Amino acid sequence: MADSHVLEPSRRVPIHSAWDVVVCGAGPAGVSAAISAARSGARTALIEGQGCLGGVWTAGLLSWVIDASNKKGFMQELAGELDRRGARRVKGRSFAYDPEQMKVLLEQWCVAAEVAVRLHTRVVAAPVNEDGRLHAIITESRSGREAFAAKVFIDATGDGELGSLAGCGFDYGDPETGEVQPMTLVGLLTGIQLAEVSKFVGGGSPEAKRNLREEMERAGIRPSYGSPTLFCIREDLFAVSSTHEYGVSPFDADAVTEATLRSRAELYQQVLALRRLGQPWSDLRVVATGNQIGIREGRRIHGLYRVTLEDMLAGRTHPDAVCCCAFGVDVHSTSHSHGRSYRSDNNLKVRPYDIPLRALIARDVRGLMMAGRCISGDFLSHSSYRVTGNAVAMGEAAGRVAAAAAHQDVLPEQVCWESLHTEQANRPVRTPPLAIAS
Ligand SMILES: Cc1cc2nc3c(=O)[nH]c(=O)nc-3n(C[C@H](O)[C@H](O)[C@H](O)COP(=O)(O)OP(=O)(O)OC[C@H]3O[C@@H](n4cnc5c(N)ncnc54)[C@H](O)[C@@H]3O)c2cc1C
Repeated sequence: MADSHVLEPSRRVPIHSAWDVVVCGAGPAGVSAAISAARSGARTALIEGQGCLGGVWTAGLLSWVIDASNKKGFMQELAGELDRRGARRVKGRSFAYDPEQMKVLLEQWCVAAEVAVRLHTRVVAAPVNEDGRLHAIITESRSGREAFAAKVFIDATGDGELGSLAGCGFDYGDPETGEVQPMTLVGLLTGIQLAEVSKFVGGGSPEAKRNLREEMERAGIRPSYGSPTLFCIREDLFAVSSTHEYGVSPFDADAVTEATLRSRAELYQQVLALRRLGQPWSDLRVVATGNQIGIREGRRIHGLYRVTLEDMLAGRTHPDAVCCCAFGVDVHSTSHSHGRSYRSDNNLKVRPYDIPLRALIARDVRGLMMAGRCISGDFLSHSSYRVTGNAVAMGEAAGRVAAAAAHQDVLPEQVCWESLHTEQANRPVRTPPLAIAS
């Protein structure tokens, strides 16, 4: 019988470069963090596994931003630039954007801010000093294995990869059942016109979702996501979110691969079936499907503060608030026993609540921050703060604090946030709660 292991020989890894701030993961949180750190004067590197910037916004083709309307700073600037490029369509307090335009815009802004971008590169190890401080990350890429040193690191990998590699404690999934939210592969569609399909279109409209599900059923299809959604990007360009992959671990490459293949096949089947119905679907075509299946849940790295459902119910505020979340609990069905749409937790009445800076600072490893969906929180609050309006505001704050910590040669928790945030306008703005719409 073949050996059950191979022994990997130890090796010396060259230090590729040393930085003030290294951001791992270039999704909405990571790009905001890197640009914000660089604009604050920090020498900043941004490491991304995919071949583009934007994470679920671009590689995942999400196309729909929630909980952005009460954000100033980077989010407001981004929305304005998308408008100037004719790449944004506002609907209530959310908006659709053209993912290809988003890709190029983020690249241009990183270049302009002098962020050193490294694509096609995965973080695979994170050695910590004897004093518990993260001092370098190790990556794998076409250039082999390399190390990047920095004064401060930001984990913006969504799944909390960096925090976990560095040895941080974390939570994952529903603490009672161990279940996690389903994955969804998003697709871009064309060959239909808004005027003719408007009753099926609407990010936040339960009626539009019901109409689309009934239309799919009329076509002989029972979508695995019982509330399939069409988002209008342009009159003739739409994003579709219509599949659910239940019980898939984001840490199991075989399972994620199978879920991706199954989801892509299902999406094509849905499109073919709708097309067979004839008008208005007769020319419906898939333009693209996500390179990356959308992963709603990963690790929630333990921080100096843990955001909780109680915070949401109380509408809790904090003196070190970096972001105010107005989006409610949004748990997509975690197993077939909950149906194919949402869990009943979504009916909880919550109030806008703050994310404090402490939830962005790792508890177990020094010199490490988090931004985006891997910050410190419980299962139900994560289902709310994970949306990208909030990910951007968290990234912006993390980048600014990391830059100040590197400049002052202190740890992130020693930076006076209030002095940074009165200088640069991104005070959390409190607005009434948003209806669930993802
Ligand atoms: C299907 C789906 C639908 C959603 N619907 C909405 C919606 O309508 N509106 C909304 O605003 N939000 C929505 N969300 C939530 C939101 O998109 C995410 O929570 C959001 O992407 C969080 O941003 P992030 O930057 O933390 O993570 P991500 O966008 O996941 O970015 C993480 C990045 O890190 C990279 N990375 C991961 N590991 C490594 C590594 N080891 N080395 C290097 N790079 C790495 C990834 O490639 C990725 O680019 C949805 C999410 C999903 C999955």
